[in-house]
Amino acid sequence: MIRYHAAWVLPIAEPAIRNGWIAVDRGRIAAYGSPGPAGPRGSADGAQEVDLGDVVVLPGLCNAHTHLELSYLRDEVPPASQFVTWIRGVMAARRSRPDPSGPEILEAIEDALEESAACGTAIVGDISNTLVSFEPLTRSPLAAVVFYELIRFNAPDPNAVVDQAQQQIDALAPTARVRASLAAHAPYSVAPLVLRAIRQAIDRRPFLPCSVHLSESAEEVEFIRSGGGPWRVLLEEIGSWDPRWVPPGGSPVDFLADSGFLDNRVLAVHGVQMTDADLQKLAARGATLVTCPRSNGHTGAGAPPIADFYASGVRVAIGTDSLASAPDLNVFAEMATMRALAPRVPAASLLESATIEGARALGFDADYGTIEPGKVARLLAVTLPSSNIDVEEYLVGGIEPEQITWIEDN
Ligand SMILES: [Zn+2]
Repeated sequence: MIRYHAAWVLPIAEPAIRNGWIAVDRGRIAAYGSPGPAGPRGSADGAQEVDLGDVVVLPGLCNAHTHLELSYLRDEVPPASQFVTWIRGVMAARRSRPDPSGPEILEAIEDALEESAACGTAIVGDISNTLVSFEPLTRSPLAAVVFYELIRFNAPDPNAVVDQAQQQIDALAPTARVRASLAAHAPYSVAPLVLRAIRQAIDRRPFLPCSVHLSESAEEVEFIRSGGGPWRVLLEEIGSWDPRWVPPGGSPVDFLADSGFLDNRVLAVHGVQMTDADLQKLAARGATLVTCPRSNGHTGAGAPPIADFYASGVRVAIGTDSLASAPDLNVFAEMATMRALAPRVPAASLLESATIEGARALGFDADYGTIEPGKVARLLAVTLPSSNIDVEEYLVGGIEPEQITWIEDN
């Protein structure tokens, strides 16, 4: 057993502890606390005592939404003022490299995994259209759900599309830390019957989450309401338009709620365009909203209403989105952007979103997300400029990889 002492311990499930300690036994948290009058030091349990100094120890973070397979597009897709313009940029960049498992793509995934760990991430929700990230993840220290994402607006046989995807998932060998599930890309890019088939497939796997990009852009809202706008133009242009499709009207959240798609196993990603009524609906169904504010700024989706998210009572998790739309995979940097957009949301709420909320949404909360006895000791030590600070506020101000070490590396 090793007992780590630090200027601060942030269990997440309770406020930060000054001069705290954590006992780790065979990779699991055995106990934690404040020193008390005599302190645990020198007690008779034979534990090795390690003083980490002026650091705060907290659980490894959860990046609840990223696309590791797009890591090779870092700095390749210029920022746009309109979302559909940005999508066109991604499509052009992907077309220029037709082999989805080419060496450049695999190398970029390996680099992205290293970068994620260096930024303090313990868990990822990874979106993949090819499943190429699954095997590298199983070799990494990260826990993950790989979402096999389907994009199919015009699908003559929706059940066959989903059955085939499910067979590919079933052929993978999940590990204790890495699992695969299904995701729908978005309500504007997946046919209603494919959405239904995905939902049915998810219902047959009761412990796995599902993901969907939802209410990301104004173009999506317009398309679902009226069937028109720049998204319709793009679908026609690429030959994916289905003339039998009838616009559902209402909001994208209304559409997915009415389709029976939204429940507490769904990660609804972005929500930039959600109204208060949408957020209430999402909260009532227990879905988790995953916000990726830096990506939203880059893609032209706009600034997410962070304060409204928290005021609505919906569960909020945090993602970086892919390196095609974010400068790095640092969840601390997303928190800093959220802090700038919503100065009144408590720092503790942002930190819960970056840890336990993401872990819960992905089904890893029994092992990750808080410092509690029995959980995995996948814990970060972040160096502090002084021990005499508001440590939660400091953490949401932006932390660089140079400040981060994993405590088992000490
Ligand atoms: Zn995404």
